[in-house]
Amino acid sequence: MLENKNQEKTDLESLGEFGLIDHLTQQFTIEQKSTIKGIGDDAAVLDFKDNKTIISTDLLIEGVHFDLSYMPLKHLGYKAVMVNLSDIYAMNAKATQITVSLAVSNRFPLEALEELYAGIAMAAKIYNVDLVGGDTTSSQTGLIISITAIGEAKDKDIVYRSGAKENDLLVVTGDLGGAYMGLQVLEREKAVYQVNPNNQPDLEPYSYIVERQLKPEARRDVFDLFQKLEVHPTSMIDISDGLSSEILHLCKNSKVGCNLYEDKIPLDPTVISACEEFGIDSTLVALSGGEDYELLFTLDQKEFPKIKGNPNLTVVGHMTAENEGAHLVSRNNSKIPLTAQGWNSFAKT
Ligand SMILES: [Mg+2]
Repeated sequence: MLENKNQEKTDLESLGEFGLIDHLTQQFTIEQKSTIKGIGDDAAVLDFKDNKTIISTDLLIEGVHFDLSYMPLKHLGYKAVMVNLSDIYAMNAKATQITVSLAVSNRFPLEALEELYAGIAMAAKIYNVDLVGGDTTSSQTGLIISITAIGEAKDKDIVYRSGAKENDLLVVTGDLGGAYMGLQVLEREKAVYQVNPNNQPDLEPYSYIVERQLKPEARRDVFDLFQKLEVHPTSMIDISDGLSSEILHLCKNSKVGCNLYEDKIPLDPTVISACEEFGIDSTLVALSGGEDYELLFTLDQKEFPKIKGNPNLTVVGHMTAENEGAHLVSRNNSKIPLTAQGWNSFAKT
């Protein structure tokens, strides 16, 4: 876990806008060859030569996307970068630069923003992306973070949501549902704390799922793995909203159907035990939980030998003709239509 050790408080107004930007960005260095000009002019200048430029942007709003009562600012900075890099990797592209814009109310002292930027800097360093711009402004209430991630890829390597074919395998990286169950644990501890602030929660048994919620990692390693194995997915998307809605995006964009097998969905033992404790169905959590930032992709069956036995990759189903629709094939072998919320348990097939 990342710790906040800084206790002093400095008013943001004492620095002024430019002083603030200089102060927050001084720890960042330029590492990418494609960054011609980073921070310090009216705009950044990037040069990707013959490669295509990949851009994705996200807006995170306090009280909507994050809760600072259990999300330390350093984690928030880290996670905000991950959320964006995940979208670049989901195009099978290399992430190279980010811009960070903040709107912040005066209840945040300079030290709070230093924590946030420490998380952003850690993410930028580990994932080797340059901070090349952004803006800082005041907000009436709360904190708003907008990050844009930029990447590059050869035209032939880019993977869209639209390339899946009938009979392609449906593959997921890592395991699912952890971030959602981590959130349930944090929400429960917050409620306990509000009743009794002396109650110190023991989060140790939940460390994996709490970390999945507070400090997710984007799957750059999968991007590298595809290069190494010479695997070229036919379609891909990152799992930010839950497996079910992401499958439906692939189906819709590729004009195919899908059979997803319930017994194949990869779940960490911690997720299964937390689901039992909270009385929540683990399949529903994987299908609709969200925020796992794993990758979901389709692959021509001919490529299966290249991924067979890889511990990072699980085949969870296959694509079908569009008119067959998208279904969950349950453990007792019934076919249940997938919906954006997970499944529609009232629908008949
Ligand atoms: Mg995405």
